[in-house]
Amino acid sequence: MSDHVSSLLAEVQAKNPHEPEFYQAVEEVLSSLAPVLDRYPEYLTAKIPQRMIEPERVILFRVPWVDDQGEVQVNRGFRIEMNSAIGPYKGGLRFHPSVNLSILKFLAFEQVFKNALTTLPMGGGKGGSDFDPKGKSDNEVMRFCQSFMSELSRHIGPQTDVPAGDIGVGGREIGYLFGQYKRLKNEFTGVLTGKGINWGGSLIRPEATGYGAVYFAAEMLATRGETLEGKSCLVSGSGNVAQYTVEKINELGGKAITLSDSSGYILDRDGITNEKLQFVMELKNVRRGRIQDYAEHYSNATYTPASPGGDHNPLWTHEAQCAFPSATQNEINSKDAQNLLAGGVYVVSEGANMPTIPAGVQVFLEKGILYGPGKAANAGGVAVSGLEMAQNSARYSWTREEVDARLQRIMKQIHQDCLSAAERFGHKGNYVVGANVSGFLKVADAMMDQGVV
Ligand code: NAP
Repeated sequence: MSDHVSSLLAEVQAKNPHEPEFYQAVEEVLSSLAPVLDRYPEYLTAKIPQRMIEPERVILFRVPWVDDQGEVQVNRGFRIEMNSAIGPYKGGLRFHPSVNLSILKFLAFEQVFKNALTTLPMGGGKGGSDFDPKGKSDNEVMRFCQSFMSELSRHIGPQTDVPAGDIGVGGREIGYLFGQYKRLKNEFTGVLTGKGINWGGSLIRPEATGYGAVYFAAEMLATRGETLEGKSCLVSGSGNVAQYTVEKINELGGKAITLSDSSGYILDRDGITNEKLQFVMELKNVRRGRIQDYAEHYSNATYTPASPGGDHNPLWTHEAQCAFPSATQNEINSKDAQNLLAGGVYVVSEGANMPTIPAGVQVFLEKGILYGPGKAANAGGVAVSGLEMAQNSARYSWTREEVDARLQRIMKQIHQDCLSAAERFGHKGNYVVGANVSGFLKVADAMMDQGVV
């Protein structure tokens, strides 16, 4: 690691001592940038890395609401407006009890590079709340969303900041948030993406992140003259990203054999067929149940409860060729990474954001497997959000085929840009360096053009 990067990291740690996830994300990016900063010292003179690390604006607010028992509840709301050099802030909202400033700053930082990679004009942001939608009635979720939006609406807008969904924020939540925004502003605009199809949403947006992660895997495999046909795939999570990852794996002839939630995981060696996937969608999106039900419904499948204190996750020990981590950050440690290799996995395409800890990433890179980091592999979601914004501006809707074709083109382009940037800076085949460098250069050059702001 160069001296510049080490001293920058020391500065980040000193300034943000209680933000481990944010530090982890910054370290991962800066470690890749040493060759760029050596070759182009003007970025250092202009303090581009320091400016990228400091959010343009952080909004933190109280979200009071009344539960079904009439009791007042108080949650914390956040929006991190990280970087607007190449477009309005763009990035999801996460509702989960673990949400804090560190996690949202890490996600917002990642989002800046990811959005730049999509080739679309979007800056980076992220937000959310420590509210837990699990176990809440629809009315409680609605009242929470209305209160959350009552404050957030002051800070966002179609030309300023356009949030979307993330963990705990799906179609239901986006609907309540949009309804309240419209009511407060008396405007029907594309202020959120992931909207319902009858009120400004884009076809393929729900599918986009999962489909994109599988397209990215297919592109990586193509560099070795291979396809997904006949390959077994480990998938974690069972929410939006995991569901559409399984759908696309099936379509391309692969076989998904696992799914999980925070309580445990299921293994179905016969494959999670489209019919079984329909069961999962109903279970998770309508009944809002637990993945354990899958093994109760399909007797050939096994269920293993999560053991939070364990030193590894048994989901990653099963024999397969591909892995699609699609639950949350830091779900693959170095032991998990070694277990994946031992089980035969040589393709990892990250649907989740930063699911692999740095020591795990190192294991993959040393082995030279096809490893697609989240900011490249899961960029399909925000890319189609960008296409939703374009359709809203034009007051026009594209067909499913058209959006899917654009998504595929974008994933192909991201893959190509990562490969080219990695090679240009002496790390051929390293998608981590490729994604970080390619995203950085686009944003850095825009910041240089716009002066010290
Ligand atoms: P989601 O629909 O809410 O599903 C999240 C899934 O992950 C659920 O199965 C959940 O299980 C599981 N999970 C969450 N926190 C967990 C934890 N701490 N331990 C174990 N399992 C956990 O969310 P999603 O939209 O699919 O997002 C999944 C990942 O993809 C996140 O990293 C997100 O940032 C990333 N991502 C999403 C999009 C998008 O378009 N939605 C785009 C890019 C990246 P429980 O139900 O038990 O909580």
